[in-house]
Amino acid sequence: MNILIIGSGGREHTLAWKIKQSPKVTKIYCAPGNPGIAEYAECIDLKIEDIAGLKTFAKEKNIQLTVVGPEIPLALGIVDEFQKDGLRIFGPSQAAAQLESSKLFSKKIMKKYKIPTANYETFTDPQLALEHVYMSRFPVVIKADGLAAGKGVTVAISLVEAKRAINAALKDKVFGEAGAKIVIEEFLSGEEASILAFCDGTNFIPMTSAQDHKTIYDEDKGPNTGGMGTYSPAPVVTKAVLEQVNETVFKPMMAAMIQEKAPYVGILYAGLMITADGPKVIEFNCRFGDPETQVILPRLKNDIIDVFEACIDGTLDQIQLEWRPEAAVCVVLAADGYPGNYKKGDIISGLDLAKQLPDTHIFHAGTALEKNQLVTSGGRVLGVTALGTDIRTAIKNSYRATEAIAFSGMHKRKDIGLKALKHLKQP
Ligand code: AMP
Repeated sequence: MNILIIGSGGREHTLAWKIKQSPKVTKIYCAPGNPGIAEYAECIDLKIEDIAGLKTFAKEKNIQLTVVGPEIPLALGIVDEFQKDGLRIFGPSQAAAQLESSKLFSKKIMKKYKIPTANYETFTDPQLALEHVYMSRFPVVIKADGLAAGKGVTVAISLVEAKRAINAALKDKVFGEAGAKIVIEEFLSGEEASILAFCDGTNFIPMTSAQDHKTIYDEDKGPNTGGMGTYSPAPVVTKAVLEQVNETVFKPMMAAMIQEKAPYVGILYAGLMITADGPKVIEFNCRFGDPETQVILPRLKNDIIDVFEACIDGTLDQIQLEWRPEAAVCVVLAADGYPGNYKKGDIISGLDLAKQLPDTHIFHAGTALEKNQLVTSGGRVLGVTALGTDIRTAIKNSYRATEAIAFSGMHKRKDIGLKALKHLKQP
């Protein structure tokens, strides 16, 4: 099979690495890809928003399966466009992808079908939004309705912060149209976890759990990022929690989307808060999480092509996912200044050494080749994933690999995975 992967980050590197292992695959292309992906795939110079160009490419190269990494092409309707011409593509339709592309759409569905989530109100008028906040208990959570590259959410602990977030979205339009509407919701306390599920329109299979670390600094301090590290499995997701999530989130959501005439095919990512009243949905994403993918896929034993095909064909009930028993930890190496302005073009060294460590994968997120030198080109530069017999060992292995790597201003959190250890009995 010829495969096309769309995207250029650590998630797509992990997908390319996993897809390459399938004996069914002859050739992988990636648009636009990155130097890490180029080890397994031919990278092509097409933008992820260029739906027409990608479609023409898929036809020309006789692509039998396209796998979409990021949310933007899904929100633009790439799946509908490809399917119009009979091209096989893995991901939700534009209508179904609204679960991520509009927080309001997703909140309305959850309310209508009684899926547990934070209470909320919607606003377009900054004055009305402020009046609502005056009456609210703090913290309050203020979210831009549309896609804002992970920057549209503010957990405001004071009126000043809330006012700033409301004005930024509704008055100053810092998120453009994506922030023309905002959702203000109740703050949920508990521990966060993500559960991703493969979905075929009717059936779903949850993957093993993972937990991200969103803020830039240790102990969950500082501004939110795209994700600074992950571990899998997440001990907070016990068997009982998983059953509850299946029954109260995934099952009703699959039925809801059929009812709404937008059956869900692809990855449904539930960002959850495990509260004292049970799991509640913080958000849905319509694709693999990044960096969650970097700890989930290295633990998946199945041929991922079989799973993608079953999703597209509606035969997921015939698939059983199998997981390696080892734990996995991914530590993200970020550029100095991220998630604000950061430098690019710093030389990266030590990858060859790090890659030789057993069960260690270095996934490229923001790298480029300049004069045959690997350099930084994004805020998140590399994801360093290692497996281990348990979380403690995986943490040790992953941090050991990061020590082999260097670039100017390299930043990493030092507490990735420590939350998981708190759940385990101390030796
Ligand atoms: P989101 O982009 O919706 O996942 O939000 C980003 C982060 O903001 C989440 O990972 C949570 O840490 C936090 N967050 C969002 N909504 C809530 C909420 N209702 N209660 C508490 N924290 C939240």
